Parts: sequence; C-alpha cells; structure tokens
Amino acid sequence: MTAKNLDEIVALAKRRGFIFQSGEIYGGLQGVYDYGPLGVELKNNLKAAWWQSNVYERDDMVGLDTAILSHRAVFQYSGHEDTFADMMVDCRECKHRWRVDHLKNGKCEHCGSDNLTEPRAFNMMFKTRMGPVEDQDVFAYLRPETAQGIFTQFKNIVDATSMKLPFGVAQIGKAFRNEITPRNFIFRVREFEQMEIEFFVKPGEDDTWHEKWVEWRYEWWKQQGLSETRLKLLTQPTEELAHYAKKTVDILYEYPHGFEELEGIANRTDYDLGSHTRSQSDFNLSAKVKPNTDSTAKLAILDLQSNKFIVPYVIEPSAGVDRGVLAVLNEAYTEEVLGEGKSRVVLKLKPHLAPVKVAVVPLARNNPAIVEKAQEIRKILQRLGLGRISYEDTGNIGKSYRRHDEIGTPLCITVDFDTVTEGPQYHTVTLRDRDTMQQTRLPIEQLSAYVREVLF
Ligand code: ATP
Repeated sequence: MTAKNLDEIVALAKRRGFIFQSGEIYGGLQGVYDYGPLGVELKNNLKAAWWQSNVYERDDMVGLDTAILSHRAVFQYSGHEDTFADMMVDCRECKHRWRVDHLKNGKCEHCGSDNLTEPRAFNMMFKTRMGPVEDQDVFAYLRPETAQGIFTQFKNIVDATSMKLPFGVAQIGKAFRNEITPRNFIFRVREFEQMEIEFFVKPGEDDTWHEKWVEWRYEWWKQQGLSETRLKLLTQPTEELAHYAKKTVDILYEYPHGFEELEGIANRTDYDLGSHTRSQSDFNLSAKVKPNTDSTAKLAILDLQSNKFIVPYVIEPSAGVDRGVLAVLNEAYTEEVLGEGKSRVVLKLKPHLAPVKVAVVPLARNNPAIVEKAQEIRKILQRLGLGRISYEDTGNIGKSYRRHDEIGTPLCITVDFDTVTEGPQYHTVTLRDRDTMQQTRLPIEQLSAYVREVLF
C-alpha cells in the first residue's frame, strides 16, 4: 500500500516533523523546504546508504565534496549558460508563468485562458553577487548540478589518488534551479540535493558501462524499499536529451502525482572533460566539445595500454535526494484497518532508513526501578551506533506505539515489572514489532544481539 494522495504525505510530514515549508511564519518561500527532526534523520540515512553502496563497497570509487558557489567560466564552458533553460510562457490574463512542456491543452493551469505569450527561454541558474563591489559582471553561480565540481577537479583527483580507468567519483550536495513552477511538495523544488556519480571509462566502453549502471541503480532503489511495480525505466527520446548527453535512461517512480523521474543515468561522453580542457586539439574529442581558451588544464588521463593521454567518457547516475525521500515516504505509507472501527497509519520503512531505530518505553514512569532500567537499556543500545534510539516517556503505551508506527520505528522495547524483578525467569523486556504488532519477551542480555540483527 502507498499513500492515497500527496496530501496524506504532506500532512504526516508536518505533523510528525519530517518536512516543513521554509519561511512558513512569513507565508512560505515557494519551492523551498526544511527538513525537521525526523526528516533530517531519514534523509541522512538515505544518503548514508547510497554512500555505503557506491563508495565504501567499491574499490573503483572515491568521494568528493565541492563548493556550491561556482566560477562563471565553469558554466560557460559546460554549456549551461547557453542551454540550461526551459521554454516558458506567461498567461496574459492572470500573469502566471508556466513551462511549455507542463501545459495541458495549451491553456493556463491557473485561469484556463489560452491567451499566452510566445515561448521564451528562461535560464534556470541562480546568480549571486560576490565580493564588495556592485558589478553586473562580478557574480558566481549557485551550481545547478554537483557534477561540474567533479569534472573541474578531475586532474587533482587523478594526481592525488592514482586512480586508473575505469573509476568513479561520488558526491552528495546541494544544487539550485530557478524552477518556473515548483510543485508536488519536495518533488520539484528550487533548492535540492543530488547524489551524483561520474564514472570515467575508456571511449568505446561507455555503452556497456552505461547498461551496468542502469541495472545497479535500479537494484539499489529496490533495496530502499521501492517496489518494482512502481519503478520504470525510460530511455529518453533523442530530441529531449540534455545538451551533453549521448544517451540517457531515467528511472521513474510512480509518485502520487504519476510516474516521474527519480534518477537519470546519462552517457555524457567526453563532453564535460573536453569542454574544460585547453589544447583540445591534442585529443580526438567528440563533435559537441567547444573550443576552450580560458582553462589552464588538460583533463586527461594516461591510458596504460596505448601509453597515450586520453579524455575519458563518463557515465553519470544522478539521483535526487528529495525525490528519493518522497518516493520512500510514499512507498512506506500504509493505512491498516484493525477491526472494531479502528485503524492505524504505519510507515513501513526499511529499518536502515527509519529515523528512530528503537523506542524504549518504561511501562510506569513513576517507578524508579523501571525508569532506571529503561534509561540504562536506552544507553546501551545507543552505543551500538545504529542510529537514534529514543526514550519514550509519555506514560501512555498505546499512544507511544501509535506515534512510533507513524514515524516508522521498527521496534519498541517495553520495560515493565518483570524486567526489574529478581529471579531466573525475569529480567526480560517486551519487544513489539512495527509491522506485525506482535509482542514477544526476550532476556535483556540477548537484546543487543537481537537489535543488531533486526536492524541490519
Ligand atoms: P526534470 O526533467 O524532472 O526537471 P531533470 O531531467 O532536469 O529533471 P537532471 O538534470 O537529470 O533532472 O537532474 C538529476 C536529478 O536531480 C533528477 O533525476 C532529480 O532526481 C533531481 N532534480 C532535478 N531537478 C530537481 C528539482 N527541481 N527538485 C528536486 N530534484 C530535482
């Protein structure tokens, strides 16, 4: 089961502290969201899972964290200054602005009028003033993708690490796009995060690596709990390809508003490294690369077989963190009928993504022995390094279970009179499973091993 509509997710996200509208107390900033106490945990867990599988578990990958503020030349040579634009129209009646490819039947979505302006290109990059002088020409871009940081540091990375082809560089970070019509909650926003890989390969081997990455990335999203029935692969039609791409396969997820892009896996060829390279004539570059006079670098690598410097091709799996969070929330959202007119909302998140891993609940909050034991158990579990363990002291066990169902806590541990009673048959706690709601008793000394097992 998933959420019935986006509103259910938006309401839960606010009620429980996953995601808030940014600047809400001033009426909100359109297309910008803040992650609350639980949202930051979920988002960090998703990013950590990505880093684990794409960096730590592979010998052919390294990580990077480059700056958001970007030199203008980077986005001139990358082609973004000329081509990173959406075609947009204005409604002459109500003044709303729309992306041409988002219009239905050529009519304004706000007032229904077809009195629209001719389409115009609208560049989506944010500019910001840099330095003390108010000068039109002195500005930096807020990067619209994290990728360029990887390309422009290519030489430094190769020199510092001695990586050999094929190898990849991974980066997670913020990107900014002045979307004309931000919409669908955190799906299309103006400030978002990307998880990007630039995987460098020998020209000629790019098609095979592209296929491999599509498969790996698809499998990874399944491991995050997304069901195959709501995932789809779409090869982009040639006329829709980005200016740098030879081929792009998108992974689409069925959001409450329909199937839309969660991740794109592009074959960017030698376009970017070539475009940032001076002395391009030294290399046999593809036709899309433009002459460069500003760069001081040769972003090439020694090919050990031919003993010549080559500009590698690059395969780029680029995923949106926020779109991932929304997909995971949608997939996990479950409403269950319990009988006798009762129901519950439960977030069936994969345990590694759950914002709270375990809730420790003392059955009686004014019994010092129970409270002390519960706090001790909480401390021991917290030290296992699995993530957040929460101490749930509301005094109302039913309410605690409901809250933890709604935020997706996989396990509640209740400390009661039997836990603190001396005797061989005691010293046990009650474990309550989020999904089955089944309760079992377990001796305290087995608790750490059990928690480790179920949370991994
Ligand atoms: P779209 O066609 O939906 O505008 P795109 O094809 O422009 O997306 P890419 O340039 O391929 O997107 O960016 C890579 C990833 O970054 C996307 O798959 C998406 O997950 C994420 N992303 C891009 N734009 C946004 C945005 N405005 N808000 C949230 N995530 C975004």
